[in-house]
Amino acid sequence: MKKYIFVTGGVCSSLGKGIAAASIGTLLESRGFRISMIKIDPYLNVDAGTMSPYQHGEVYVTDDGAETDLDLGNYARFTSSPLSRANSITTGQIYQTVINKEREGKYLGKTVQVIPHITDEIKAQILKIGNNPDIDITIVEVGGTVGDIESIPFLETARQCIHELGRENVLSVHLTLVPTVSGDEMKTKPTQHSVKELREIGIQPDILLCRAKKELDEGMRKKIASFTNVEMASVLSAIDVNTTIYEIPLIYHQQRLDEIVLKKLGLDLRPAHVEDLHSRVEGYKNAKQTVTIAMVGKYVDLHDTYKSIDEALVHAGMGNQVRVRILKIYAEKLEKGVPPQELLGSADGILVPGGFGERGMEGMIIAAQYARENKKPYFGICLGMQIMVVEFARHVLGLDGAHTTEVNPQTPHPVVSLLEEQEGITKMGGTMRLGRSATHTLPGTKIREAYGHEVVWERHRHRYEFSNKYREALETAGLKITGFTPDGTLVESTEWEGHPWSTGVQFHPEFTSKPTAPQPLFNAFIAASAQ
Ligand code: GLN
Repeated sequence: MKKYIFVTGGVCSSLGKGIAAASIGTLLESRGFRISMIKIDPYLNVDAGTMSPYQHGEVYVTDDGAETDLDLGNYARFTSSPLSRANSITTGQIYQTVINKEREGKYLGKTVQVIPHITDEIKAQILKIGNNPDIDITIVEVGGTVGDIESIPFLETARQCIHELGRENVLSVHLTLVPTVSGDEMKTKPTQHSVKELREIGIQPDILLCRAKKELDEGMRKKIASFTNVEMASVLSAIDVNTTIYEIPLIYHQQRLDEIVLKKLGLDLRPAHVEDLHSRVEGYKNAKQTVTIAMVGKYVDLHDTYKSIDEALVHAGMGNQVRVRILKIYAEKLEKGVPPQELLGSADGILVPGGFGERGMEGMIIAAQYARENKKPYFGICLGMQIMVVEFARHVLGLDGAHTTEVNPQTPHPVVSLLEEQEGITKMGGTMRLGRSATHTLPGTKIREAYGHEVVWERHRHRYEFSNKYREALETAGLKITGFTPDGTLVESTEWEGHPWSTGVQFHPEFTSKPTAPQPLFNAFIAASAQ
């Protein structure tokens, strides 16, 4: 029998539902179960691709080119769940499917309604993932907070699944908040209300994860249990961690969360293997050296915009036994004249991440120039590689006004531009080069040294490309081209000749990094910065 776990959140957002769901995934995998993870986003956008980072943090890209919620990134870092377009469900996507079916006459003249047609469609998508013969347990994270109007069809679907498949096959895990007031008094009332709300919809949670500053004592757990009908052994503390989020699965493991889940689902208690994660977390917490990375971007005031990059840097820290401190530098400060030495001087390495649009770009160019001239390790990701090309064209080749046509379509030197076949495209959704593809790396380059083999597979999300018209001139001047698409037509990576460590990549290596398997380029960048 296939098993399902619905993870919901109560009281307020940002309690770490994604990490909690992913941690359950980590622990079940550590016991040899094959899991799949699904994120449900109750917004009307079809996907996250057209949303500003200010709205929704990072857009996570899957191998098949889906532009998804950043929680899929958490799943990718914490588990080996297969992740594709199908693992990200939005209200927009469900309605689009149902409306298309209605237009095709598939409902045979019936009135099409939220219940059962929308809920049936949601259920069909979840079961399609769950019924994969290679999957034992499917974890479904329902975005939003219980009580939101938008979440109701999804919670109703969860209720139906519990009812139809049986409580021994479908679990409800609810993450709530136990706030602290007046000094250190912990309060259970918000949790009581949030569970009450869930039960009104018809869902009795099986396990409560209570986010709190410190561990809940027995009296508190007893009180929550008696008010919520959840057995006391299944009321667990989700305490705040200071150093690394990868400690969270280990903390749940100590509280026997995985044992409780397996017992409730009637699955055997296979031995757990969390040793590798444990030793990496301990190594990171006890690391003696700290490496400072300056990340120069335009959305640096937002916590989650460069989530996968932040995490990949930490993974590489684990791989190199150093702590990583990330200094987020607002690119516009550099263009407004703050001296680069003042902002970047204390950094051991400089990273320019991906981005869109004009704002901050001149500041990023100053950062790249500073890294090149001062021989600081430089890592340019997507836009960060394009910046590397523009900077080099302007300051080394002397091509005044060189630019990407994304910012200046009239530039006299379009060193980064649209492919001719793309020039007619006006739609914004799903028109980029997206998803996984191969890059052939050249021997004797930093990129080859980092990966250790010729062909590497990474994901893309961009429209503009290195312009081949300038390839020869740039190379002759010392901007090495170090990787290509398999047909040799597009430049995928660059590096500065004679510089200690620099690499620009047109793809996004941050999406494939894990704490237990740091991404090779990040590993090499941190190693170079540590030196
Ligand atoms: N804006 C650039 C492009 O579309 C870079 C995109 C990115 O960094 N993801 O090509």
